[in-house]
Amino acid sequence: MRTALVAGNWKMNGDSAFINELMSSLTTAAGSSNIDVLVCPPAVYLSQVKEFTQSCSIALGAQNVSEHPNGAFTGEISLAMLNDLGCEYVILGHSERRSLYGETDTVVADKFIAAVDAGLKPILCVGETLEERESGATIDIVSRQLKAVIDSAGIDKFSDAVVAYEPVWAIGTGKTATAEQAQEVHAAIRAILAESDSVIAAKIRILYGGSVNAANAAELFANEDVDGGLVGGASLKANDFIAICHAAGA
Ligand code: PEP
Repeated sequence: MRTALVAGNWKMNGDSAFINELMSSLTTAAGSSNIDVLVCPPAVYLSQVKEFTQSCSIALGAQNVSEHPNGAFTGEISLAMLNDLGCEYVILGHSERRSLYGETDTVVADKFIAAVDAGLKPILCVGETLEERESGATIDIVSRQLKAVIDSAGIDKFSDAVVAYEPVWAIGTGKTATAEQAQEVHAAIRAILAESDSVIAAKIRILYGGSVNAANAAELFANEDVDGGLVGGASLKANDFIAICHAAGA
């Protein structure tokens, strides 16, 4: 039995006042949750958010990290720094990192290995563009992105990892994959992992991400291989995020 996980990816949004308000609402609602809830604020606000998460069951995560341990990497943030700030998870290979900042499968794999070695739980994002879906290449793309990490890191490094299926065409667009589309790709991801280790494949959490909201969450999460969500826009609205968490726990 996999415990559902709902992760909020705040991206580059919010300020101190907004975050105090959002976290006050989330921590009030967090009490009796039967799922895992995670928030991933902008890095500069990790310490502020930790003030809230340290006294409740909400976990803290980062949106990205350097693959390098330390040194002359201006603007980068290390895994040691994330550990120091109390992060448990780190999102890796988000499509915005891949498309806007040129992160290749190789870089994502290097970050994945470094994260696991540093004791953080990676949330590995995979997903196809609209063009790739329309040309029937969805499973090939997701498989390539996933296998690049399996081949480089080794399947054992997936023991505490999370995979997020995020069709690029559904991120921030208001278009959501249908429950059938999500389940098909999630099952394929689990099958690819099972080729290397069936035990890890059975226990790993595979999140769906792409315009999840309070209205569509229940239908998406009802699928056998959908173990929760990676939520962008709706994670910035306390009531919506809480409703999504309730849908995952239902
Ligand atoms: C995301 O950025 O991971 C995401 C899924 O965004 P949204 O929910 O806004 O589509």
